[in-house]
Amino acid sequence: MTHITRRDFVKYLAGTAGLGSAAYSPLSHAVKYQARVIIIGGGYGGATVAKYMRLANPHVEVILIEKKQQYTSCALSNEILTRERTMDSLTFNYDGLKNFYGVRVMHDEATEIEPVKKQVVTRGGQTLDYDRLVVSPGVAFRWDAIEGYNKAASKVMPHAWFAGEQTLLLRRQLEAMDDGGRVIIVAPPNPYKCPPGPYERAGLIAHHLKHHKKDKSKIQIFDAKDKFAKKALFEQAWEQHYPGMIQWISASNDGKVQAVDTKKLAVITEFDEHKGAVINVIPPQKAGLIAEQAGLADESGWCPVNQRTFESRIHQDIHVIGDACIAGPMPKSAYSANTQAKVCAAAIDALISGSPTPEPSYVNTCYSIPAPGHGISVAGVYRLEGEKIVAVKGAGGVSPLDASEWERKIEAAYARSWFKNITSDIFL
Ligand SMILES: Cc1cc2nc3c(=O)[nH]c(=O)nc-3n(C[C@H](O)[C@H](O)[C@H](O)COP(=O)(O)OP(=O)(O)OC[C@H]3O[C@@H](n4cnc5c(N)ncnc54)[C@H](O)[C@@H]3O)c2cc1C
Repeated sequence: MTHITRRDFVKYLAGTAGLGSAAYSPLSHAVKYQARVIIIGGGYGGATVAKYMRLANPHVEVILIEKKQQYTSCALSNEILTRERTMDSLTFNYDGLKNFYGVRVMHDEATEIEPVKKQVVTRGGQTLDYDRLVVSPGVAFRWDAIEGYNKAASKVMPHAWFAGEQTLLLRRQLEAMDDGGRVIIVAPPNPYKCPPGPYERAGLIAHHLKHHKKDKSKIQIFDAKDKFAKKALFEQAWEQHYPGMIQWISASNDGKVQAVDTKKLAVITEFDEHKGAVINVIPPQKAGLIAEQAGLADESGWCPVNQRTFESRIHQDIHVIGDACIAGPMPKSAYSANTQAKVCAAAIDALISGSPTPEPSYVNTCYSIPAPGHGISVAGVYRLEGEKIVAVKGAGGVSPLDASEWERKIEAAYARSWFKNITSDIFL
C-alpha cells in the first residue's frame, strides 16, 4: 500500500497509466497549495463541489475520487424508456473539471476513511492525506428490505434507479411485453432519491404502451407510502393522457410490497400476491456505502450534518452533501446536491482561510415530464434558521392544477433547459 503526501501526488498522477496526462493542469506544478480537499464521488454533488472549490480558492488542491470513468445522469433517465433520449445524452466525462478547473481526477474507489488520521484509502491501494474531505456518494439500496430482492433479482425485476444497463434492461422488457400485460412499479418509502421519479416513470411507461398498440395493458404502482410528491398533478396528467391505465395503490390499501418471487414474476403484499409481465422494483434506500462504512450515517441510514457547512455531526473535517446527507426539507435531487455543493465549497473556503462562513441560501426545482410535452414542477427556496434549513415561506410551490396546455409545454421545455444548464454548470 502506498502512502501519498501532497507533494507526491503530482508525481503519482503523472506516472499512473489509468489517469493519463490530462488528469492535472501543468499550472498546478507552480502552485504551492494552501490545503488539500479530497472529494469522494463525482456525481451532481461531488463534481460541483470540485469545480466551485477551485473557483473559490485556486490555492486549494482538489482531488476528486470517482470510481467510474464517466458519469451517467439519473435525472431525465426515465426518457430512455420511451426512446426520447439516448444514454449518450446523459453521459458526461471529467475533462472539463481536469482541464479548465485544475481538479485532479482519480478514477478509483474510496474503500476506507480514517477520520482521525485524516486519510482516504482506495481500492487501487493508495492512501491520501486530506485537510478537508467531502463525501458525496449518492444512495445505496437496502437490499435486505424486501424479501427476495437482491442484486440477482434485479436482473429479472430491474430497479433502473441507477441510470445505465438497468434502465436499458427495463426498456427491453417493456418493448418485449405483449399487449394486455401488467406492469408493476414498486415505489419505496421516504426518503429516497428523486421523490417524483416513480410517478414520472409510470406516465412515460404508459406513453410507451399506448403508442405501441399495448393499450390493453395496465400499470400498477404498489407504494410503501400514503402520499407522494405532486400527487394531484400526476393523477391529472395520467387521466388526461392515459385514462384508466395507471392505478396507484397506497400503503394503507395493501400497497406495501414485502417480498418478491422472481420465478413466479410476482410481488407479495401483506394480504395478496400480484403477478406482473414486467416488474420494476425501486428498493428502500440509505446513504452510499462509503458513508455508512466510515460511520458518517446515524441510525436512520443517512448522514447528519451541520446544515450551514455540511460538516458531519459525527466526524470533524468531513463534509457530506447530496443524497447521502440529511438536509431538512430539501428533497434528494440533483438540484439539491448542486446547491448544497456550492454552499459547502464556500464554507470550506472560509474554514480554510479562518474567516466566518457565509450566510447560505439554497434552492431546488424538481421537474417531471409524465407525458411528452407535459411538464410539471415543484420548487423550493431555503434558508438557515438557527441551525436548520427551512423553506422560505411564499417562495417556490408546485405548478398550478389549472395550467393551460401551453403552460405544460413550456414547463417540459424548462425541464430540458434545466438539465442542459445544470450539466453545463458542472461538466462543461
Ligand atoms: C429516475 C431518476 C430521475 C431523476 N430525475 C431527477 C430530476 O429530474 N431532477 C433532479 O434534480 N434530480 C433527479 N434525480 C435525482 C438525482 O439523480 C440525484 O439526487 C443526484 O444524482 C444526487 O447527486 P449525488 O452527488 O448525491 O449522488 P450521485 O449523482 O449518485 O453521484 C454519486 C457518485 O459517487 C460515486 N461513488 C460512490 N461511492 C464511491 C466510492 N466509494 N468511491 C468513488 N466513487 C464513489 C458514484 O460512482 C457516483 O458517480 C433522479 C433520479 C432518478 C433515479
